Amino acid sequence: MTETAEPGFRESVDLMFNRAAAMMDLSPGLEEKIRVCNATYVVRFGVRLRGAIHTFTGYRSVHSEHMEPVKGGIRYATAVTQDEVEALAALMTYKCALVEAPFGGSKGGLCIDPREWDEHELERITRRFAYELAKRDLIHPSQNVPAPDMGTSEREMAWIADQYARMNTTDINARACVTGKPLNTGGIKGRVEATGRGVQYGLREFFRHPDDKAAAGLTGTLAGKRVIVQGLGNVGYHAAKFLQEEDGAIITTIIERDGGLHHEEGLDVERVHDWLMRHGGVAGCPEGKHVEDGAALLEQACDILIPAALEGVIHTGNAERIKAPLIIEAANGPVTFDADEILRAKGTVIIPDLYANAGGVTVSYFEWVKNLSHIRFGRMQRRNEEAHARMLIDELERIAAQSGVEFALSPEFKEAYVSGADELQLVRSGLDDTMRIAYQAMHTIWHGRDDVTDLRTAAFIAAIERVAASYRAKGL
Ligand code: NAD
Repeated sequence: MTETAEPGFRESVDLMFNRAAAMMDLSPGLEEKIRVCNATYVVRFGVRLRGAIHTFTGYRSVHSEHMEPVKGGIRYATAVTQDEVEALAALMTYKCALVEAPFGGSKGGLCIDPREWDEHELERITRRFAYELAKRDLIHPSQNVPAPDMGTSEREMAWIADQYARMNTTDINARACVTGKPLNTGGIKGRVEATGRGVQYGLREFFRHPDDKAAAGLTGTLAGKRVIVQGLGNVGYHAAKFLQEEDGAIITTIIERDGGLHHEEGLDVERVHDWLMRHGGVAGCPEGKHVEDGAALLEQACDILIPAALEGVIHTGNAERIKAPLIIEAANGPVTFDADEILRAKGTVIIPDLYANAGGVTVSYFEWVKNLSHIRFGRMQRRNEEAHARMLIDELERIAAQSGVEFALSPEFKEAYVSGADELQLVRSGLDDTMRIAYQAMHTIWHGRDDVTDLRTAAFIAAIERVAASYRAKGL
């Protein structure tokens, strides 16, 4: 993806790690132990399709087992390599530590263009891949729990869960072997939107900190902020939709594989997404003006740039020309190490991937807990909470009537106050809390130490400290 010779994705993650570790008091041995990827399993398997045997290459990398199970998505893309999967697995370790999800880091990938195969064929390929991983405990409720990533969705997760269950018929926790499943196979409300929702909550928290806004030269709230989004897939679509509909942000540009759409007054995210779903690209979409060179649109003036597609899109070849004062890395690794240095020197504020897209693994954590507890969140408490709230209102009204005081709560207030939280509300509340607390951990390090001048280094320090503490507790 990068135009000039610069460190690849895995080296970039290692360099970012090194930059932070150098500011910490870790023994060299422990530092090395945390940085290295523990293991990568490479599998080549054949599936008979369309009258011929096709061989596919897949990976499952386990970066750190300081906590188990290890966790991380499975990506379907032709560009998947061992280096990429290892970089993503490392990011998972740091991400889980930062948001206090009790997992080690892992990641998987299959070299495949999912658009070349029909649904039935993809199911056979996915089941076979899942079989290869599950028989080595690389899919397992207490060892290794995958989730969706680029090119996969809840459909693939349902196939994986079913494949695991067929191979482990007496495992009562089988459903917890993978997250991001559809609701009717043990999924949780709010998982599909979770990563994009986390981007929104992360930005909201950023805008609550006047000193952080000032560092980016921004003021006010998200309302009216001009936003560029690259990649209108699961993460980009939900982030753009929520920012537009709920925070009043203006999505001026949407960049996809076949170019981008631009409209200074704002694009209708829902309409662009609808077009993308029906046509497989944004070309021809009547919303805004179509520009063939999508990458050039990253360089437009805006308030917030959200790369939400793939790694390495901001590199030494374009970093200098990026005008956004604030970048939130919804994708993993969109800014290379060298580009990060250029942007920091320019004063660009970057909300790093290990924080920005952690909403997915956070809600995956909730789903895994739900699967292990075999009960949906809120089922026991909801009506009890409602009864308590109703009692209070009834009593206030009774006292007011008795003492002749004029007292009338609006029906809307009563309805909102009385209704107990359902699963979706609880998931959003848990995600919001997680994103706020993790941001505050980065913020404290960023502003509390003279040697830390950016959020990425702060995020790495917070994460590495927790992983190190966990290794130390094991006596390492
Ligand atoms: P997705 O497959 O749903 O969407 C990716 C989108 O990017 C697609 O619309 C695709 O057409 C577009 N795209 C691909 N190449 C592009 C290019 N060169 N230029 C512009 N657009 C391009 O994937 P996703 O799940 O939304 O993941 C996107 C990123 O977010 C990845 O880096 C992934 O690792 C990361 N992420 C995803 C999740 C999750 O829960 N899905 C969680 C954490 C991180």
